[in-house]
Amino acid sequence: MKYYDKLIFELSREGRSGYSLPENKFGHCLKELPKALRRPAAPELPKVSEIDVVRHYTNLSQMNFGVDTGFYPLGSCTMKYNPKINEEIAALPGFNGLHPLQPEATVAGAKAVYEGMDKALAAITGMAGFTFMPCAGAHGELTGLMIIREYHRRRGDTARTKIIVPDSAHGTNPASAAVCGLEVVEVKSNANGLVDVEALKPLLGPEVAGIMMTNPNTLGLFEKDIKEIAALVHECGGLLYYDGANMNPLLGVVRPGDMGFDVMHLNLHKTFSTPHGGGGPGSGPVGVAKHLVDILPDVKVSGFNGNFGVILRAYAYILMLGRENVKLAGKYATLSANYIKESLKDCYKLPIPSVCKHEFVYDGLIDDGASKAPDGHGATTLDVAKRLLDFGFHAPTIYFPLLFHQALMIEPTETESKETLDDFIEVMRKIAAEAAENPMILRDAPHCTPIRRPDETTAARNPILKYQDSICE
Ligand SMILES: *Cc1c(COP(=O)(O)O)cnc(C)c1O
Repeated sequence: MKYYDKLIFELSREGRSGYSLPENKFGHCLKELPKALRRPAAPELPKVSEIDVVRHYTNLSQMNFGVDTGFYPLGSCTMKYNPKINEEIAALPGFNGLHPLQPEATVAGAKAVYEGMDKALAAITGMAGFTFMPCAGAHGELTGLMIIREYHRRRGDTARTKIIVPDSAHGTNPASAAVCGLEVVEVKSNANGLVDVEALKPLLGPEVAGIMMTNPNTLGLFEKDIKEIAALVHECGGLLYYDGANMNPLLGVVRPGDMGFDVMHLNLHKTFSTPHGGGGPGSGPVGVAKHLVDILPDVKVSGFNGNFGVILRAYAYILMLGRENVKLAGKYATLSANYIKESLKDCYKLPIPSVCKHEFVYDGLIDDGASKAPDGHGATTLDVAKRLLDFGFHAPTIYFPLLFHQALMIEPTETESKETLDDFIEVMRKIAAEAAENPMILRDAPHCTPIRRPDETTAARNPILKYQDSICE
């Protein structure tokens, strides 16, 4: 049996213990809890020594993959390294011990963090003001769309029920629009992977509330026609929403406010280096242009002021970089992505060859090894992703965006050294060679992870979370 096959309860042995409490010298001053509040019997805790506990949890922690353990080029997610000073600052007792219902006079420091962050984000984005309530990017999208809807309502323009979303958009865009009660109208991308301005024109009219765009888009390409698109949408009476999940390469270089966007969110947990993955916690502050600032206080999407710890970490990161170095983050992220893109394009199909921003998309292997495998199938993008795990790399995002059949979306971020990028390139080459020579190695991968290939559909649709029925059986 391997370490991960056992629960800590199975390690339990009668008489073992991991602690010893000092003798109670104050017994006479302790009052017993009322009987009604006490358990009828002592809890059944495992009886384990300190070293059992330390090994158990250390081993469990190493079954997981994190940016602290290896390269994590997960496209669209910006898994950059989170400097540890952010954690130290978030753990300061003056911040960590705050309660949201504390009297305002006692939280001057926290207020200063919000004010400082508001100013910093306004400078970075060209927006006039922010709300920090939204707790994720998707939550920010919903908030921003509520602001757009409220803007039209206040003007008595209630016919605007449609929102335009490009076909390359992240799935949360149409989902947020639907949750907000808006009808989603898709606009096609052209052969260069950009919003097709000619296809957009006939969609515009008096029913359009606005357009949601990501720039650079999910292919990592800068929407260079954005000025023209902004003029067209504004002319028809709509507003422009900016999905700021891809703000990383633009930091200190271009501002959404200057591109013509009216409302936007930022994913602080992506661009501004706070830990994320596994569902949170996140922070998706929403910024608005001057003409929408009045609406901000009326759109409430959280009980309090968002995830303060995430905002604080992001603020620490921004202050640590400072105005000048913020500009370098995006440039290095762009350089790293283009370096990988160009280095592997002889092995992996590059459907859109233009210069990318912080990420790019391959469309699977060039030689899929079709003739080499017994059943005639070659190696797919899924196989490449699984094989990467054997070499200690997290897989890129796969099968997204939906524009290509074998999408492999790679985002290296600015925090990786050239040596790490070179290691990754070498491994990707090796995998391409394996795919040509012996695709079964890929088809059976991963070979070295605690779990091989779970049935992903069943795992998502019918998760069995009880120990007895799990893989450990
Ligand atoms: C991550 C992402 C989102 C959603 O953000 P969450 O914080 O995960 O809710 C939206 N759009 C794009 C382009 C993204 O990459």
